[in-house]
Amino acid sequence: MSQTTVPSSLPYVKISPRGASRLKAGHVWVYRSDIVSAEGILPGSVVAVCDQRGKPLGTALYSSSSQIAIRMISRETISHEPVADFPALLRQRIAAALAYRNNLVRDTDAYRIIFSEADFLPGLIVDRYNEILSVQVLTQAMDDKLVRDTVISELTQRMNPASIVERVDPRVRELESLPPRASGPLQGEKTVTTFTMNGVQFSYDALEGQKTGAFLDQRENYAAAAQYARGEALDVFCYQGGFALHLAPRCSQVTGVDSSRPALEVADRNAALNRRDPSHPEIEWIEANAFDLLKDYASSNRRYDAIVLDPPAFAKTKRDLDAALRGYKELNLRALKMLRPGGILVTCSCSYHMSQSNFLEMLAGAALDAHRTLRLIEVRGQSKDHPVLLNVPETAYLKCVIACVS
Ligand code: SAH
Repeated sequence: MSQTTVPSSLPYVKISPRGASRLKAGHVWVYRSDIVSAEGILPGSVVAVCDQRGKPLGTALYSSSSQIAIRMISRETISHEPVADFPALLRQRIAAALAYRNNLVRDTDAYRIIFSEADFLPGLIVDRYNEILSVQVLTQAMDDKLVRDTVISELTQRMNPASIVERVDPRVRELESLPPRASGPLQGEKTVTTFTMNGVQFSYDALEGQKTGAFLDQRENYAAAAQYARGEALDVFCYQGGFALHLAPRCSQVTGVDSSRPALEVADRNAALNRRDPSHPEIEWIEANAFDLLKDYASSNRRYDAIVLDPPAFAKTKRDLDAALRGYKELNLRALKMLRPGGILVTCSCSYHMSQSNFLEMLAGAALDAHRTLRLIEVRGQSKDHPVLLNVPETAYLKCVIACVS
C-alpha cells in the first residue's frame, strides 16, 4: 500500500481537484459535481475523503441525494486515520457547543445550542426554549437511528430538558430522499412553555410557527434596537412581536405589521405577558401586506420616530438577487420617507445571497432616492449563538443595520 492510499475501514469518496481546493481553502462542503467516485456508498454514510491521487483529506458525512454531497466533520489526516467512532465525536462536539454558549450567551433561556456546520455538526440544529429543546435534522447522516439516539441521550444527560421535540421540514426530507416523518416529541411530552430573552417574555409552542418557533438569531439585535428607539415606532414584518415587544418600554406608541394572522395572535398573547407596567403602551397589531401598507402610509404622510424592517428572505437563490434588491430598496425607501429627522431605521436581511456590501449599497441608493442622510449607528449580524465560520461564508446570513436618519 502506497503512502498516499487511504488506510481506512470506512468507504471512501474520491473528489476532483476543484473539490479538493475548496476544502483546502477552509470550506466544508463538496458538491456532487466534484465527486469523482462514490460507488456503492450508502446514503448518510461516514466516509473518508481523498483527492484524485488517493491523498486523504479527512472524514465527512455523505448524502446520496443533496447537491452538497460531502459535509466534512474532520480534517484530521496526519495519522491518516479517519474518524473511527462517529457517536463519540458527536458527544464531544455537543459538549463543546454547550461550552461555547456558556461563555457567550447572556440574558436568555432561549438560544441556539447547535448550529450545524458552525458547530462542526453539519445537518443538525438544536434550539433551547427554556425547558424544551427543539431539534431539526437536515441530512441523511443525522437521520441515522444511532446518531439520533446519541444526540438525544447526550442532550438529555447534559441539559435535563422537560422534553426534546423534533421539527420536521417536509421539503428538506424530500431533498435528502428521506421518508416522510411527523413533527413531535422525541422524549418527554411537553410542547408548550414560555421563555424570556432580554427580560421580555414570549409564549412558545414547539409545534407551531416558523423555523423552530422564534427568530433566535435576532435576539441581540432586539436589545440593540431597543437602545436607540423612542417615540412612535413601527415594526414591519413583526411575526410574533420580537422587535415590537422590545421597543414598547422605550416608545410612546408601537405598531406591529405582519401578513400572518396566527403570528399576530401569538404577538398579542406575548404583549399581554409583558404588560405588567401600565406605562408601557398597548401595541397595535395590523394584519396587512407590508408593501401595500407602507405605500398607503407613506402617501398619507404618516410619520414615525423608529421603523424596523425584517422581511423574509427575498433572495432564496443567487438568481433572485436582482428582484430581491428591488424589493429591499422599495421597502427601505418608503420607510426612510416616513421617518422624522433624527429617526431610527433598523433594517434587516436574512438572505445569505445578499452580501453585507450589497445590502449597504442598496441602502445608500435608497437614502439618495429618498433625499435623506443616513448615519450608521451599528452594522450587525446574527446573535453569537449562531456562530459564523469565517471560511464558510454561507454561515453568515443575517444583516441588521441600525441608522439615524436626517
Ligand atoms: N421580525 C420577526 C421575524 C420576521 S420573519 C422577529 O424578529 O421575530 C418575516 C415575517 O414576514 C413573517 O412573520 C411573515 O409572516 C411576514 N411576511 C411575509 N411576507 C409579508 C408581507 N408581504 N407583508 C407582511 N408580512 C409578511
